[in-house]
Amino acid sequence: MSDKKRLGEFELIERFFAPLSGEGAFGLKDDAALLKVTPGKALVVTQDAIAEPIHFLPGNPPDTIAKKALRVNLSDLAAKGAVPTGFSLALGLGEEWREDWLEAFARGLAEDCRQYGLKLNGGDTFRTGGGPVVSITAWGEIDPDHYRSRLTAQTGDRLFVTGTIGEGALGLLAHAGKLPSLSPETGAAMERRYFVPEPPVAFAPLIAEFASSSMDISDGFIGDLEKLAAASGFDAEIAAGDIPLSPEVREILSGADIPAEKALETALTGGDDYQLLFTVPESHVASFLEKAQKTEFAVTSLGTVRQGDGKVVILGDNRVPLGFASTSWHHF
Ligand code: ADP
Ligand code: MG
Repeated sequence: MSDKKRLGEFELIERFFAPLSGEGAFGLKDDAALLKVTPGKALVVTQDAIAEPIHFLPGNPPDTIAKKALRVNLSDLAAKGAVPTGFSLALGLGEEWREDWLEAFARGLAEDCRQYGLKLNGGDTFRTGGGPVVSITAWGEIDPDHYRSRLTAQTGDRLFVTGTIGEGALGLLAHAGKLPSLSPETGAAMERRYFVPEPPVAFAPLIAEFASSSMDISDGFIGDLEKLAAASGFDAEIAAGDIPLSPEVREILSGADIPAEKALETALTGGDDYQLLFTVPESHVASFLEKAQKTEFAVTSLGTVRQGDGKVVILGDNRVPLGFASTSWHHF
């Protein structure tokens, strides 16, 4: 749209982002934001960036790009036991950026601001040499004694996971047209899970109350479990059949589009799950489960962790350990 007059940086911020701004952000007209913190609480802060063409592709719906950029951060906060209270946005736009792209992006962000009760507190807008880059920093308040790190699981704690695993990675395959046997509805639902993850944000208070260690699953269930196990110093042995899978993922595993082992490997190592992996001391498991059952979130027990140095073994049929080429997604 080189022939049309472009919005300038300040008009752009004013039109698309100022309406999302909250108290202390001065309508995004100042140099910074002034945020109040409840006395006695601490802030948990996290940042995640996504860039074209690594995390999304030209032509992907901009509203979903905005939502994913925000939600991957909300997933990290939930993993630490924090409910989000605000965020900032650094947005890089390429030479060829279009106003309709930005309008859809801002609409998606506005929808999620409503959904999660959040305001935009500031950011930066800049030009990139390539396509769009979206970096979000999000924060939430926490009682500092209830911050849940990856490092603090104890031998004998019970390992849990929220939700189901594999829809994100297999949703990407559905989007790439590699799962043609799926019904159009199932294929679309799977793609949606890839484009717009649904981290269990409202589960954070249970993590804060009960977990001994916690992390979110972004790069792959097995690889991320290995990270948790290495950080805390435990080994885990899990029956593949105990890992929670949705009916759609089971349908793909038993379908003809890709070999079952390949489909399982994608589900367990492909990433984009944005579920929580955490441990609970055995003495608290009963009260944890009682409270968890009153939420909208499913939790699955994956057994007890034992003394170790980060080994994770997934057992297939007849308890034979499964082998995987790679246990998670790597950038480099
Ligand atoms: P400065 O150059 O003084 O750092 P900017 O001109 O980059 O400030 O930004 C002006 C104001 O607009 C600031 O309040 C900043 O937080 C806000 N802002 C800029 N870009 C964005 C964005 N993409 N999202 C939200 N707020 C933004
Ligand atoms: Mg300034």
